[in-house]
Amino acid sequence: MTQYGFFFDSSRCTGCKTCALACKDYKDLSVDFAYRKVYDYEGGQWVEDADGVHVSSMFAYHVSVSCNHCDNPACAHVCPTGAMHKDPATGLVDVDAGKCIGCGYCHMACPYNSPKVDRQLGRSVKCNGCAERVAEGKSPICVEACPLRALEFGPVEEMAKLGKRADIAPLPEPRYTDPNLYVLESDDVQPAGTFDGEVKNIKEVM
Ligand code: SF4
Ligand code: SF4
Ligand code: SF4
Repeated sequence: MTQYGFFFDSSRCTGCKTCALACKDYKDLSVDFAYRKVYDYEGGQWVEDADGVHVSSMFAYHVSVSCNHCDNPACAHVCPTGAMHKDPATGLVDVDAGKCIGCGYCHMACPYNSPKVDRQLGRSVKCNGCAERVAEGKSPICVEACPLRALEFGPVEEMAKLGKRADIAPLPEPRYTDPNLYVLESDDVQPAGTFDGEVKNIKEVM
């Protein structure tokens, strides 16, 4: 099996959200859904030191994330029908529309808030890694659309050469699901689990 995954270069991303919008356009999603989201994460403060000098610990960066097609997919583990499954050839995680009953267990289990239940369709919806494009030897649309070349997609062995497994705020710690998302960290990046910053565009990413 070739396990596919994403790479994200935190030092390049400007938070323009072209990736998220390109996905919505390609997947013809309504305003209610987005398979990829971009967190704007900020924090820090100005502190006066003993000499009266004001020193900044401010930081700000963006994190583009979709489904991470995890090695240990919590979404698939809790799915009572087997609809949420990992493709044996690519490791990409997808919903079998014919099996899904829209119970929402996958939505509740995923620490990345990736699957959502579409009440009109009566089933779960999420990023499938653009499996149909990958089968044709192409990259996902979100990766191709990024104007800063901050995203890559490919076999995880290749992605792991570019960065380390995602362990950055505001994402959860990787030990929960072993996400196939590798990150090159910018100087501003804070570790997963920190409470030193906050997501400034919370309405966009929920
Ligand atoms: S990111 Fe969430 S939905 Fe995607 S495979 Fe991992 S647990 Fe499942
Ligand atoms: S891989 Fe495809 S479905 Fe997933 S976020 Fe990117 S464009 Fe959307
Ligand atoms: S398109 Fe590229 S630079 Fe823009 S938000 Fe997405 S990953 Fe960041």
